[in-house]
Amino acid sequence: MKLYMQVLIALGLGLKRNWHIFAGLVLGVIAGIWLHKDPNPIVMTTFTFIGQVFIRLIQMVVIPLVISAIVIGITSVSDSKQIGKLGSKMVLYYAILTIIAVTLGASLALLFQPGLGASSFINTDVATDVQAHVAATIETQKGNLLNIILGFIPKNPLASIAAGDMVPILVFAVFFSVALAKVGEINRPFVSFFESIFAATMKITDWIMCFAAPGVFALTAVAVSAFGVEIFTTISKYLGVLALGFAIQLFVVFPIFLRIFSKVPIWMLYAAIAEAMMVAFGTASSSATLPLTIACCEKRGISHKVTSFVIPLGATLNMDGTALLQVVAVIFLAQAYGVALTPFLVVQICLLAIVASSTCAGIPGAGIITIALVLNGMGLTPEELVAGFAFLFTIERITDMMRTLVNVTSDAVVAAAIADNENEINYDLLNNPEEYNEVIN
Ligand code: ASP
Repeated sequence: MKLYMQVLIALGLGLKRNWHIFAGLVLGVIAGIWLHKDPNPIVMTTFTFIGQVFIRLIQMVVIPLVISAIVIGITSVSDSKQIGKLGSKMVLYYAILTIIAVTLGASLALLFQPGLGASSFINTDVATDVQAHVAATIETQKGNLLNIILGFIPKNPLASIAAGDMVPILVFAVFFSVALAKVGEINRPFVSFFESIFAATMKITDWIMCFAAPGVFALTAVAVSAFGVEIFTTISKYLGVLALGFAIQLFVVFPIFLRIFSKVPIWMLYAAIAEAMMVAFGTASSSATLPLTIACCEKRGISHKVTSFVIPLGATLNMDGTALLQVVAVIFLAQAYGVALTPFLVVQICLLAIVASSTCAGIPGAGIITIALVLNGMGLTPEELVAGFAFLFTIERITDMMRTLVNVTSDAVVAAAIADNENEINYDLLNNPEEYNEVIN
């Protein structure tokens, strides 16, 4: 091999893996723009394949990882009062951040009215029907909510595992783990069994992450090639409102939250989880990023006791970015179809988005699908609003990448705050990047 090639490769391998993934992202955007202008089916098929291999590999470890992490997390908190304390604090923190996200989304969408731009594309007859449906069904939401809650309880946990339904799996895993914690020493063989599963799945994650840079490159290229840059101009207001909301959540809300509830320096935390943030952006999947989120937090000093409890639950239940998107998207549709946005309706949209986002799996596209729950709550169906949805779908992937980044960051922020409150964080490791190696050694 030529000397300059050897030098280039050595330089590349010497870079931190963060930068490999980042380079994958940037090159993916460039390749996507190029592919949009000059589509090449063979290249597209190859990129789609590489991206799918990466996502599938990483999804492969999610269910064993989630269950084993929760079992270890809960059983390692030997004192059952402490489980209650950790659990209630986690729910409180997740709730605070999600409520702020939906309030932020609603305020920005009402202020900038992104949907008005789309109203000229909407058939007026359809718009009249939509307005009538919303008016007629606005009072009848409660049954829906109860059904959603019923769906959280698994009739058959194994069937939920086979179907990959995350919320029922989590409910069962939590019950099971609390019971194991309560029965005392007799739980040892079972807990050891889950400890082995956890260690093995983390090892597999290490291997898979060697493939992160090409995986993220291919996924980004395919996503960008679908719409090119032009679409940004057509729907720029909607995208702008979302980007602003996500940025405020990331750079204002999370830092203030950490300042109020902990003494964790936000930039140190962001440096610690940079790799997970980039993979979240590239894969648009909180679940796929989960192993890495845990690894990043632990390598930088957040205890296993906290990460294994808070992050797996957060990866499914805590979806601030998704909740924010759902509120903005539904208000966008309401504006496009001329539905009167009364304060009552706005509050209702926010509450439904909190429920819908937390039932949403951490996989690409789940958030836009569970918008149906919010619309059902308003007496509408996505089919009825198909013209409006077409707008949202054109840029769905890019908004998914952004909201997933927020979702994953939020899980780490809550884990860090709880770790700080419970004295479960090693500040020497967190504050001193020199002290730790790459997440994957
Ligand atoms: N893709 C998001 C996530 O994995 C969920 C969503 O579609 O909003 O966090």
